[in-house]
Amino acid sequence: MYASISQWVACLVLWQCMTIAGTLGYHRVFSHGHWKDCPAWARSFFVLFGSLGFIGPAIPFAAVHHEHHRYTDTDKDPHSAQFKGHFWTYVTPQLAPFSLKYLVGDGKKHFRKLIKDPILGFQERYYWFIVLGWIVLLLLTTGDLYSIIWGLLAPAGLLKLFSNLLFGYSHRGGKPHNDFWLGLLTAGEGFHKEHHDRPWEVRNHKWDISGKIIQIFSK
Ligand SMILES: [Zn+2]
Ligand SMILES: [Zn+2]
Repeated sequence: MYASISQWVACLVLWQCMTIAGTLGYHRVFSHGHWKDCPAWARSFFVLFGSLGFIGPAIPFAAVHHEHHRYTDTDKDPHSAQFKGHFWTYVTPQLAPFSLKYLVGDGKKHFRKLIKDPILGFQERYYWFIVLGWIVLLLLTTGDLYSIIWGLLAPAGLLKLFSNLLFGYSHRGGKPHNDFWLGLLTAGEGFHKEHHDRPWEVRNHKWDISGKIIQIFSK
């Protein structure tokens, strides 16, 4: 069984949609609020493809990410490869526990705003129904059981393969690094040191595609 050209293309396009959902949506918009007044259609896109990429619901992701910035590369950092091991941070970063007590100041305000977002609330409640609905849609439109592979599992696997490197590899040696190739493969996330140095900055690099998209749409 070999995949056709159109199935390869669909797989790569879906991988890019999931990458944009993770980098631009979950990270820049939901965790940092870089796109003020981000419209419902864009938030729905991020929630859909973030769910299909098995990133988990966006609210706990954003809360964990706040801890990651607050406690970068210390024993309280939920994503610290140094303290939790590279295997754990690569394989299960989405399962990182978070503690509400770490949300202080602006973090707390931002988190309250996220909880009030009905699109994020829908995702919290119906996360697995979104995934199941996608599987049903794939089967109904293609009539092919293998569509679950090229239309869901393979693109989600590519997302894990590259984007999960940010949790451990990008913090190798106990500090954040910039990696140009990873920046290209993760829609701008690989310029990780830049982001840690100036997390408020919308665009981290000339090749930070997500930052560029936010700049275009939020004008
Ligand atoms: Zn980091
Ligand atoms: Zn961040």
